[in-house]
Amino acid sequence: MFSLCVYFGYTGGRHLGRKQKMKKSVVWFEESCIKCAMCAEEVPEVIVFEATTGPQLKEGVDIVPHSEKIKRAAQFCPKDSIKHHLQ
Ligand code: SF4
Repeated sequence: MFSLCVYFGYTGGRHLGRKQKMKKSVVWFEESCIKCAMCAEEVPEVIVFEATTGPQLKEGVDIVPHSEKIKRAAQFCPKDSIKHHLQ
């Protein structure tokens, strides 16, 4: 089974032309997570941890201003479970 939690954050403030693609930022957790809660401690503004479900992205939070902290949390995740596409 594969669990996926994705949040799209809009990264552009300009009007985009028809052929321009809107850039999206995405973060998700893979099933290899061992629920150590380290990522929620590293980025409490974005990630909430619940013992039953593990790490989840907070609803309605713009992830873009926290990109660097998310990248750092992904770098130090012991199971390489945090995946992202951040601008
Ligand atoms: S740091 Fe990695 S292993 Fe630990 S709870 Fe977060 S995603 Fe899971």
